[in-house]
Amino acid sequence: MKQTGDLNLVKKINKSIVLHHIRTDSPISRARIAEIAGLTKATVSSLVNELMESRLVDEIGVGESSGGRKPMMLLFNGTAGYAIGVDLGVHDILAVLTDLTGKVVREKRVLHDNNSAEEVIDQLKTIIRELISSAPESVYGIIGIGIGVPGICDEDGNLLFAPNLGWENVSLLEQMEETFNIPVVIDNEANAGAVGEKQFGAGKDTANLVYISIGIGIGAGIIIKGELYRGATGFAGEIGHISIQHDGPKCRCGSLGCWELYASEHALLEQARREFGGAVTLDMLLGRAEAGEAAAIALFERLGYYLGVGVVNIINGYNPEFIILGGRLAGAEKWLMKPLLQLLEKRSLSHLRKLPKVEFSQLSDRSTVLGAASFAVAKFFASTTVSVERS
Ligand SMILES: [Zn+2]
Repeated sequence: MKQTGDLNLVKKINKSIVLHHIRTDSPISRARIAEIAGLTKATVSSLVNELMESRLVDEIGVGESSGGRKPMMLLFNGTAGYAIGVDLGVHDILAVLTDLTGKVVREKRVLHDNNSAEEVIDQLKTIIRELISSAPESVYGIIGIGIGVPGICDEDGNLLFAPNLGWENVSLLEQMEETFNIPVVIDNEANAGAVGEKQFGAGKDTANLVYISIGIGIGAGIIIKGELYRGATGFAGEIGHISIQHDGPKCRCGSLGCWELYASEHALLEQARREFGGAVTLDMLLGRAEAGEAAAIALFERLGYYLGVGVVNIINGYNPEFIILGGRLAGAEKWLMKPLLQLLEKRSLSHLRKLPKVEFSQLSDRSTVLGAASFAVAKFFASTTVSVERS
């Protein structure tokens, strides 16, 4: 009957609202939830009972009273299950096991040489298996896997195009779900990074932010009014392929003079090879700059300048409050920031009342893995509290 269906739906939505407040504000009392959610105390009590039966919520004893009987405080049970977050990089795989609050319990990193997509996916499965087998006992076990990938995906979790991996049309979600038989979420690594920063990093209190992932390529995750902006077909944020020189060198994407050809870690290492000869790594360059070698410092300053050129375009395009730069280049912050900020001062539109904050990520290289794990957690809660009725 329709009416019953509607009532059930309302109940499920209310339950998910109650759980949301316990997850974000605990320890919290039933009365306080009723007050902020605009629900009756009886409704909240009955929904809390169900959540306690589902082992997602615990009572942790009495809290302060505002008059009358002291209330029992509720706590979200973050260890009722575990999620896996993966950052599938161009040369390595970083994977973490987190609890339901995003706390990292285990971390693993392996290098890969990208001989073929099959080989890398096999390595990916091995590292996930290891994390699954190391997970502590819990009510729900491993609730899902989130994977951030350096490319464009469709809604079905197919990796359509990853130029820096050289992969096209890889059915990653399907392959992973077939192997592990648990829900999998695939998204662009910069989108995952932006969500990681919004939930766990410097972007917590910011509604409009752009996270720029600087690695072999450059990508961006754009958060507008607290929500990830994906664009009409999910491609938003391919900002490394904004052309900053209309007749510049050819990019792997097919265009000319793309930003990432000038401002990525890859561009830095290419330039260093041309100047110094031989094999050059980022750690090597950081060491030389740290030792005061002028030529190495000049390379980072030049990169800072080119980063600024693209960041100005982002500021003028999106007017964000905060730009967070992620990736391993954070180690070069002291040489990159000055030329970058000087360029912003000179070139941003003069009618902007004030420039956004621009900072390197404080989460080091974990923005993407944390965001990816949080996608898996969000999917789990969407299914437990809204679609699945537990008795
Ligand atoms: Zn390009």
